[in-house]
Amino acid sequence: MSPTSRTRRSNGERAMRWERDVPLGPLARYGIGGPAARLARPHSLRELTDALRDTAGCGYRVLGTGANVLIGDAGTAEPVLVLDGEFSAIRLGENSIEARAAARLPALAGTARRAGRAGFHFLEAVPGTLGGGLRMNAGSREDWLWDRVEWAEVVTPGGELVRLRPEDATPAYRHVDVPPDWVFVRARFSATPGDAAAIREAHLNFRERKVRDQVYELPSVGSTWKNPGPPHPPAWKIVDEVGMRGARVGGAQVATRHANFIVNLGAASADDVLELMAETRRRALVQLGVALEPEIHFWGFEPEQLACVGAA
Ligand SMILES: Cc1cc2nc3c(=O)[nH]c(=O)nc-3n(C[C@H](O)[C@H](O)[C@H](O)COP(=O)(O)OP(=O)(O)OC[C@H]3O[C@@H](n4cnc5c(N)ncnc54)[C@H](O)[C@@H]3O)c2cc1C
Repeated sequence: MSPTSRTRRSNGERAMRWERDVPLGPLARYGIGGPAARLARPHSLRELTDALRDTAGCGYRVLGTGANVLIGDAGTAEPVLVLDGEFSAIRLGENSIEARAAARLPALAGTARRAGRAGFHFLEAVPGTLGGGLRMNAGSREDWLWDRVEWAEVVTPGGELVRLRPEDATPAYRHVDVPPDWVFVRARFSATPGDAAAIREAHLNFRERKVRDQVYELPSVGSTWKNPGPPHPPAWKIVDEVGMRGARVGGAQVATRHANFIVNLGAASADDVLELMAETRRRALVQLGVALEPEIHFWGFEPEQLACVGAA
């Protein structure tokens, strides 16, 4: 058990409990990453605002399931928040689905599939939470999560609850224009009833193709690089063309089945992954004149390390 500390409100009620030196690898899908100096698991809006107040001025990070984050081997000095408890709820309405930020994306897809609500098939087999999905604008080539959003709610660092419409967030490819320290807590999606059998089939077909073509048997963070867009080929093809498919550094390997995935063969370090990425990016620049941009987010790296992989 990590050492913990608990703050209390003046009326003696339970407030936020902070764990110290918490290894992040086990909390992240990649299984990679050093410890968080402090970590809290708010179960409610009230606990979240308590936690934000505790962190005032130091910055913080929010971790979903780490299905799109590479965490450095030395971990992060910033406090980390993992939403839990009440934040996992999903509620089906007459023409909508409302979900909180710790709800899993496959659970959201499953709710739509079972209730015969069209437009959520592209979330089948996308690991992660709704909060991470909103931050990343998760989706497929054709469909993005924010296409379905009626509104999403965030809590600001000052504890204010703000409701955003899609036009406030200006969603783009794997990006939203929402300050990085605003915490997504809930969203409502339009979800009108449709042809239940056709919807089910669309979900199952999508899932089958995705699981067949991508890599699920080893830990990864999904697509490493964003597709650069026309006139360039997709990122996987670029990685392939520069001879990096199957390349290995330490315990990390560019997947042989899908060249845009880097898998953890068991004992990969963050530095192993970063080295593979840096070499891939260098070759793509030199051989093809393409500057690859990472899709994944990075925690706990030096600016020079990030520059090598084209991360801001
Ligand atoms: C096998 C596999 C397949 C994948 N397929 C797809 C795919 O088809 N499409 C796709 O888009 N992605 C895909 N991904 C990537 C990943 O599933 C998504 O990006 C997902 O949205 C990540 O969710 P998460 O909760 O794990 O976020 P994390 O990885 O934990 O976090 C990602 C970012 O979101 C931030 N964040 C997390 N929660 C919150 C919150 N509540 N409020 C504010 N910020 C928050 C984090 O700080 C971080 O910056 C895949 C990954 C894997 C491993």
